Amino acid sequence: MSQFVASRARSAIFSLKPYVPGKPIEEVKRELGLEDIVKLASNENPLGPSPLAQRAAASILDQLHYYPDSNCFELKQKLSERYNLSPSSILIGNGSDELLKLAALAFLNPGEQVVLPQPSFSAYEFSAKVMDGVCLPVPLADFTHDLSAMLQAVTEQTKIIYICNPNNPTGTIVSREQIDEFMSQVPDHVLVVFDEAYSEYAESPDYVSGLEYLRAGKNVMVCRTFSKIYGLAGLRIGYAFTTPEIAGAIERVTDPFNVNSVAQIAALAALDDFEHLWTSQELNQKGKHYLYEQLNNLGLYYVPTQANFIFIDTRQDCRKVFQGLLQQGVIVRPGDVFGYPTFIRVTIGTAAENARFINSLRTVLENLS
Ligand SMILES: *Cc1c(COP(=O)(O)O)cnc(C)c1O
Repeated sequence: MSQFVASRARSAIFSLKPYVPGKPIEEVKRELGLEDIVKLASNENPLGPSPLAQRAAASILDQLHYYPDSNCFELKQKLSERYNLSPSSILIGNGSDELLKLAALAFLNPGEQVVLPQPSFSAYEFSAKVMDGVCLPVPLADFTHDLSAMLQAVTEQTKIIYICNPNNPTGTIVSREQIDEFMSQVPDHVLVVFDEAYSEYAESPDYVSGLEYLRAGKNVMVCRTFSKIYGLAGLRIGYAFTTPEIAGAIERVTDPFNVNSVAQIAALAALDDFEHLWTSQELNQKGKHYLYEQLNNLGLYYVPTQANFIFIDTRQDCRKVFQGLLQQGVIVRPGDVFGYPTFIRVTIGTAAENARFINSLRTVLENLS
């Protein structure tokens, strides 16, 4: 590192771990000379974007010389009607990643604490550390948030608690009963951020959205995204519900044109594409049960999931399994980055992709044993 950067850049940035994204398809093609690649590494929708969203996006390509609506008026209006919450309590972001970062930017002073589950989505740690905040990671218990341990980690200096529900990378949920208990005890000085990127996939009757606690008057922020079930990850757009006061604070630190016009119009259309939504949910359900059955046949442990991915114990070095699967043209996420060196996280794909994954996994495991 240059002397200039070492001495002049903010010291907090050197504590950040670089984000490790799922390996892009084009990169695998280049590196391995393979043509037919299946990417099951980033929990994208295997059916692609909503057709209504695609059409809407295409419809404004001749308007790109105009700045986008900085207030995202129409999208907030639609979300407001759908969820019966005031537009002033809705935030739209350049991905929900941006909204997570903006929450920390608006609320976290240097040295103040956040409580987060571990392992979980890396953006919580990132957004806290970039603000010079202090992270108090609380290990999962049985692959699930340990809400009572998270409560115990709270101090006077705690500003934010993150709850990823369903959790990435384990696919588990915390139940209504557990969250009720937790919310009844969480101190008023703490902002509870619910990250519900996979809420549309949750099937359990025990699942509850953080929205219920927002409606009950708690200081809660609920983040959702168009990147997962709506299939718009490439456009970068997410949304959040919170109190109008918290929304106002976060708006103060938001760039005026943070959400591009193509993303806004596509998201608006996606919200009306129930056929795409329901087809995606059904495909995921079927794929999940197929994979459960096949993993059972292989004698492998997996964590039952409420999301569109499965966390699987291969009982082998996950890096070897990851590499072996890559050779077969199947991209998954190795579990060592999450602290589980024998696990892989696999997105539930189309029926053909799931079968290809299972066959490749069988081959790889046979070769390793
Ligand atoms: C994928 C994902 C997101 C979505 O991020 P975007 O910035 O909206 O693409 C948020 N939280 C979790 C837990 C995720 O897995």
